[in-house]
Amino acid sequence: MIIVTCYKCKRKFNLEEQEIADGLAHLGKPNAKYYPGRCPNCHAQTKISLKGLKLPPPTTPLVVEAAAAEEAQAGESTPEEAPEGD
Ligand SMILES: [Zn+2]
Repeated sequence: MIIVTCYKCKRKFNLEEQEIADGLAHLGKPNAKYYPGRCPNCHAQTKISLKGLKLPPPTTPLVVEAAAAEEAQAGESTPEEAPEGD
């Protein structure tokens, strides 16, 4: 677990090593020196130094699913399933 402080809004958020490893694999930069951690509050990207971090191997299938889910969310938001009344 890594605690990151957003450079923009100064909020602290947590990143899992696994999340970073998967993110780097998704970016195609497994040997990058920095990881662009996205702030859940303001969505700014904060550079996180990976120096000295031991990252686990990426779980590729999960990354693909997450990316697909993100793409789906990027489109128009669909309303939740309406409860059926009879
Ligand atoms: Zn922020």
